[in-house]
Amino acid sequence: ARAQAMEVEASPDVTYDDIGGIDDQIREVREAVEDPLINAETFREVGVEPPSGVLLHGPPGTGKTMLAKAVANETDATFIKMAGSELVRKFIGEGARLVRDLFELANEREPAVIFIDEIDAVATTRTDSKTSGDAEVQRTMMQLLSEMDGFDDRGEVRIMAATNRFDMLDEAILRPGRFDRLIEVPKPDVEGRRRILEIHAAELNLGDDVDFDDLAEELEGYSGADIAALTTEAGMFAIRDEREEVRMADFRDAHEKIEMASGEGPTTGP
Ligand code: ATP
Repeated sequence: ARAQAMEVEASPDVTYDDIGGIDDQIREVREAVEDPLINAETFREVGVEPPSGVLLHGPPGTGKTMLAKAVANETDATFIKMAGSELVRKFIGEGARLVRDLFELANEREPAVIFIDEIDAVATTRTDSKTSGDAEVQRTMMQLLSEMDGFDDRGEVRIMAATNRFDMLDEAILRPGRFDRLIEVPKPDVEGRRRILEIHAAELNLGDDVDFDDLAEELEGYSGADIAALTTEAGMFAIRDEREEVRMADFRDAHEKIEMASGEGPTTGP
């Protein structure tokens, strides 16, 4: 059961260079997660408590998971991912046990980065907390809080989480000693979109007419994930046309196709 619910990678291959448009967030994550992991001894000696947990929040597909993987890569740490939705669709008592397993595994594999995606699934403020399903979610959250509270020597294990629904989070998980460092990861601005286009098109055989400045302007509202999908789609247009070169028209066709498919814009919406 453990293996199914958790994704474990010895050292993920994502690097900071693969992440575009969120340089400030990269800097913050390095300071809050990477430094304490690399200099655990120094933090202990000086008596500085690093942030307990780091919460990344922002729209879907903006690079939150990539950030957590890049930290694990940079520190040669084991990356252990658990989706909040996995924790809550289990039988009674199983969510809490999975949380225990998660922290136990991290301790065995340290240095390790725990990443809980969609943490809102376990930590949402609920209006009707009387139904039994909600009671179970509540128990899972209590287990998570108690694991975090009981984590004194956390030098070699760092905890990160992500959510697209920051406003719905239960405040209990944001208290000091828990997820006490918040980092907002927004959609990229025009310069960020240009950088992400470059990253994802790096392997493409591009025609001379491809202009990422213009494209970046046109892709207002696109997330990193939307841009990744667009780039692949542009390549597909070239292949369908039996061309070895991806041209500006392919990117524009891809853009149009994505707009059509989603009705009024990129798949992830505003
Ligand atoms: P979700 O909230 O949906 O889990 P997320 O913020 O965790 O999304 P990621 O899983 O990190 O998003 O990104 C999904 C994919 O989108 C990545 O594998 C990558 O191809 C692309 N991507 C997203 N953001 C960026 C970015 N800032 N730079 C480059 N690629 C990106």
